[in-house]
Amino acid sequence: MRQTLQDQERLCGVDEAMADILARRPALEDIATSYSLLLKARLAAQAALPGTSLLDAAAITAAQANMASGRPLLDGLFETLATPAPELLTRFRAAAGHMLPAAAQAFPNLAADLARVAVRLADTSAAQDTGDSLAAELLAAIGPEPDPATTTTKGTKAGQRTEQRTEQRTMEALAAALDLPGPALHMATTETLMAVLAHEATLLGRHVDQGAWQRGYCPVCGGGPDVGLLATEPQAGTLWLHCGQCSALWSFPGMRCPACDCVDPTRLEVLRAEDDTAAAHEGAPCCRDCRTYYPAVKLAELAGRINLEMLPIGLLHLDLLAQERGLTPVAPSPWNTLA
Ligand SMILES: [Zn+2]
Ligand SMILES: [Zn+2]
Repeated sequence: MRQTLQDQERLCGVDEAMADILARRPALEDIATSYSLLLKARLAAQAALPGTSLLDAAAITAAQANMASGRPLLDGLFETLATPAPELLTRFRAAAGHMLPAAAQAFPNLAADLARVAVRLADTSAAQDTGDSLAAELLAAIGPEPDPATTTTKGTKAGQRTEQRTEQRTMEALAAALDLPGPALHMATTETLMAVLAHEATLLGRHVDQGAWQRGYCPVCGGGPDVGLLATEPQAGTLWLHCGQCSALWSFPGMRCPACDCVDPTRLEVLRAEDDTAAAHEGAPCCRDCRTYYPAVKLAELAGRINLEMLPIGLLHLDLLAQERGLTPVAPSPWNTLA
């Protein structure tokens, strides 16, 4: 999927992007350093995972058919998180072996707690595999939550999901049972799952029909866009959205809000940092209807090279600008939630 972006020569590695951020926005050094540690660990985890998708050929065919109704390729996988398959547990634990040491380095105040999670996940000594059962509980706790707006509707699909959910332990309850702080456990789980999802995105991207998808969320994992890229010739005018969860790219109409599909040009605008003439290629398209925004760059006006994953961190000044105006990111994360 990333190969479909016509600006391959514009892409660079994590270190080059880090050097660019340090040169242009030194105030972002700490957050960019933490982010780059996790990003490098994610790449190492991906390299260590098997070169085949968690979805077999039949599951991919079925998932492709469901995309017409707006279901991302991995939707079926998310539905299994309450009772994860052994292969997912194995990959989750392998990815955790890369992600947790990096997370401990990125967040030293959580290091001791993250080390305890890592030790338990790696534990294969007990008769009942401790690592696998912890991985299963973490995935169940992070699995899809029922839509709060429909949880009271008895007898609907959402209602049934709620009943299932009550049998799963929430992350808070799991943290209490393990005597670990909830935030450390939650971060360990999301970062590790994101590494597994990013690996899936590299394997599944070619199964996405870019022309047919055209939705404001990721065709692979359903995540929201953490950054947008306006392409250059010969794809001029094409907007590529980058998934904040799995790093997939997908094409989307330039003048449409990814959060609410508003296409009224009088309701859409682009916020810019007025005082920064060296950053004319940067802006945050925002929507007056649903009060959301996402950071974006115009590749045609970009002088240097970019790393797609580091890009949102280098654009955090736009998040600040937008959030000062009461706007919410289309894809909120612990990194871009500044208030
Ligand atoms: Zn995704
Ligand atoms: Zn909107």
